[in-house]
Amino acid sequence: MKLFTFLFSLLTITITAQNNKKYDTFFEKGNGNQSASYQETIAYWKMLANDFPTIQIKEMGLTDSGEPLHMITFNPDKEFDFDKIQETKAVLFVNNGIHAGEPDGIDATMQFYRDLVTGKMKAPKNTVLVTIPVYNIGGALNRNSTTRANQDGPEIYGFRGNARNYDLNRDMMKSDTRNTKSFIEIFQKINADVFIDNHVSNGSDYQYKLTYIMTEHNKLGKVLGDFMNNEMMPALVKDLQKKKIETTPYVDSFKDTPDKGFGQFVDSPRYTTGYTSLFNTIGFVVETHMLKKYAERVKMTYEYMKSTLDFTDSNYQKLKDLRVKNLEQYQPKKSYTLKWELDSTKATTFSFLGYEAGYKKSEATTGNRLYYDRTKPYKKDVPYIKEFKSAKEVVIPTAYIIPRGYWNIIELLKNNNISLKQIKNDTIIEVESYRIADFKTVPSAYEGHYLHRNTTVTSKIIKMAFAKGDYIIPTNQKGVKYLLEAFEPEGVDSFFNWNFFDPILQQKEHYSEYIFEDTAGQLLKENPSLKAELEAKKQNDSAFATNAEAQLDWIYKHSVYYEKAHMQYPVYRLL
Ligand SMILES: [Zn+2]
Repeated sequence: MKLFTFLFSLLTITITAQNNKKYDTFFEKGNGNQSASYQETIAYWKMLANDFPTIQIKEMGLTDSGEPLHMITFNPDKEFDFDKIQETKAVLFVNNGIHAGEPDGIDATMQFYRDLVTGKMKAPKNTVLVTIPVYNIGGALNRNSTTRANQDGPEIYGFRGNARNYDLNRDMMKSDTRNTKSFIEIFQKINADVFIDNHVSNGSDYQYKLTYIMTEHNKLGKVLGDFMNNEMMPALVKDLQKKKIETTPYVDSFKDTPDKGFGQFVDSPRYTTGYTSLFNTIGFVVETHMLKKYAERVKMTYEYMKSTLDFTDSNYQKLKDLRVKNLEQYQPKKSYTLKWELDSTKATTFSFLGYEAGYKKSEATTGNRLYYDRTKPYKKDVPYIKEFKSAKEVVIPTAYIIPRGYWNIIELLKNNNISLKQIKNDTIIEVESYRIADFKTVPSAYEGHYLHRNTTVTSKIIKMAFAKGDYIIPTNQKGVKYLLEAFEPEGVDSFFNWNFFDPILQQKEHYSEYIFEDTAGQLLKENPSLKAELEAKKQNDSAFATNAEAQLDWIYKHSVYYEKAHMQYPVYRLL
């Protein structure tokens, strides 16, 4: 009997060991410097979902690669209906491989879920986990060993650009890719309370293995931003310290080396965390340090996710309540900040673990080169700016009105879960109307666009005829911040700046000078105040006074012949 029990125990141990081996990830089976391919990653997730009913794998729309995007949910209660999940639990959302050359999260998240389902890690009571296993699938299929020129491992990895060479971490507002549309569908469906985007850093050398970007707290909104900045982030940092992991905010240096100071990174809405912030979701970007060993980086990513899950689980109700309260701050007639700047009057210091840096003669070029001396680590208080100040504000309108012809924008709004209604009959409505006064354009192509910046508008109140079927988009809804960032032309990542409205920048009709000369002469005769205005301009502008062509154009632009659509922003504000 005893022998039988002994043999039985031995058999059980062997089976368990085999089972444990079964769930080893590709990274764990390798030499510590190897990352799973896209195919290996999906096969692993399918196996987990097949073996554990607490995990669900689902296809959620296409990506530019032609492959579908997967969403993987872990809920110990085996409930996967998010309407029901919202009622009782928080949702932590993890995105991996947006830059496929930075695969730490891809490998770490497989370990993370595996440890939760096998009981190695205690399953959360109040939090459901959702992950995109590989977001940039096109990039992940484009494997190589060289494009991360400054990164120490893994041996083979994907490429930063997606299947159509877009950087997906600049695409959140313009949504050029199918990846982004599918990401947004997932994000809107799960209504994540906390979001993590896993990356690997570039830039200077220092002692930290783990750096992080906390989404800009001022922009997130006072209620939720204060909680994240004053309670959640310090708690995460402390919890990581308990695990002997030192962290720093992402090192966005003011000058060549971090000891001269750095500031909090500005994650405008083109970035994933800048986008999730618009829906009152707390967001972090994990940036492991590129010169640390791959196995250490995967471990750092894992531990950051664990600390965040623990905090979310303990504070889930508070998080959910504060998200609701945060939204209440954005009411019509209140002011909304479109542009934030680092506030140098609130500069502080950060106790930084760096390496001494110096310059020496380059062996490759004729210049001097920067180097970091790892034999000379330091701990120094360096200048640090975390606080932002408002640099441009607008008043939140009651609604925006957009002609139904802008079907591309209507589709995008629907993708973003925005509620719209259509005007029932042709009608005249008093609205605030913008004209584009000025803007600059980047000189080279940027993410498939020629992005505008420094845009300014002039505004006036007009009575405007709208047609049956035009769309009214009330701002009294969850996506109010998204609407403001998209529709206010002066916003950094506005639809205007991303070229959605470029056709209004080009005049469609013109005149022949020899014909319009007669009309212009007649106009001035009939309209003495126009003539007086023209004379005044000639007095004040000597170049204009000698430029006959410019004078004729001025008269044209001050006449009824000049088309109304030129520079007229076609989205109107209902105040
Ligand atoms: Zn990255």
